[in-house]
Amino acid sequence: MSDKHYLDWPFFEARHGELARSLDAWAAANIPHDHGPNVDDECRALVKSLGAAGWLKHAVGGEYGAGDAIDTRAICLIRETLARHSGLADFAFAMQGLGSGAISLQGTPAQKDRYLSKVAKGEAIAAFALSEPEAGSDVAAMQCNAHIAGDHAVINGEKTWISNGGIADFYVVFCRTGEAPGARGISAFIVDANTPGFEIAERIDVIAPHPLARLRFTDCRVPLTQRVGEAGEGFKVAMRTLDVFRTSVAAAALGFARRAMDEALQRATSRKMFNQRLADFQLTQAKLAQMATTIDSSALLVYRAAWQRDQGRNVTREAAMAKLTATEGAQQVIDAAVQIFGGQGVVSGQMVERLYREIRSLRIYEGATEVQQLIIARELLKDVT
Ligand SMILES: Cc1cc2nc3c(=O)[nH]c(=O)nc-3n(C[C@H](O)[C@H](O)[C@H](O)COP(=O)(O)OP(=O)(O)OC[C@H]3O[C@@H](n4cnc5c(N)ncnc54)[C@H](O)[C@@H]3O)c2cc1C
Repeated sequence: MSDKHYLDWPFFEARHGELARSLDAWAAANIPHDHGPNVDDECRALVKSLGAAGWLKHAVGGEYGAGDAIDTRAICLIRETLARHSGLADFAFAMQGLGSGAISLQGTPAQKDRYLSKVAKGEAIAAFALSEPEAGSDVAAMQCNAHIAGDHAVINGEKTWISNGGIADFYVVFCRTGEAPGARGISAFIVDANTPGFEIAERIDVIAPHPLARLRFTDCRVPLTQRVGEAGEGFKVAMRTLDVFRTSVAAAALGFARRAMDEALQRATSRKMFNQRLADFQLTQAKLAQMATTIDSSALLVYRAAWQRDQGRNVTREAAMAKLTATEGAQQVIDAAVQIFGGQGVVSGQMVERLYREIRSLRIYEGATEVQQLIIARELLKDVT
């Protein structure tokens, strides 16, 4: 692999460098280059092996995980490293974190005890169910609702685009509970996959396949002890969770971009044409220089946001800048790599062709690029009188 000089950046402590290097070696030895055709089986196997090897502890943090509070820099380095090896391995790690993040951050001791150690060992698969057919970017427009009946919440409605939908053992589901209008009337509940009234309404195929589904709830009763955070505080629970994982989406994009850069360098220095190497043409060098600069700018923003969150500071603006720059930048880097590969770049199964498909949805989920632009502008304008 190419050098990891950035691990010496002042954002990191010595343990971060050790973590990234040992995961890189583990991934090279343990993650298959090609995954089989059944993504459900592949994801289950990846969660098990990431759990058995101890990597998933970092997705959880705290006493059930890696010991300390959630370490955003560790999560970002793990996602970057896994993404460089396999999009599906990154997905398996990320979803254990995103799916259990609300419990790590705001769960009761009983909820943590019941779910987190299993998530950290890879013995339970987690999912995060926020989006709906009519409420994606505009999350507060959600209609899936829960009414309280005695000591239970009764959930009715739908969620869609839910990663791990169909293979998850539990879902953290955000529902309208009506304490106040809009974002202030939402609560989060943990729904076990075997709860009566819960079903997978549809499996969804996407360009970079991973388990994804539309969920349906019909008079689905969950005990109130399954509520995460206070009644009506679900939107805050979701936003706190996304504050950690939004920066990690940027880190995954960075990993894809670094892999594309490695592949492009290999190809440009080995492909001969017009009596020299492709890399000897200045037009190619300009492309490579732009790719490298985009990668470093993204990395600086990703690890600034992760470091700042680990200092306990607000990262709304910094996480949005990291996600915007790293996902858009990775798309450009990967596109340039495909161009350098020529016809080989669009052959199904080629690494750069796979990266080209993998990167696309990162510009849409956990807040589309336009949403990140609005967040950055809102934060800027807030400070102007
Ligand atoms: C592969 C994948 C996995 C996902 N996994 C999950 C998951 O696990 N859990 C979950 O809850 N959700 C998940 N999502 C859903 C994801 O978060 C939503 O797709 C995303 O929030 C966008 O919502 P939408 O698809 O409804 O698009 P819309 O909200 O309809 O937005 C469409 C487009 O409009 C543009 N746009 C949005 N807002 C503005 C604006 N204010 N001004 C101008 N343009 C704007 C953007 O370009 C956006 O892409 C996943 C999505 C994908 C594709």
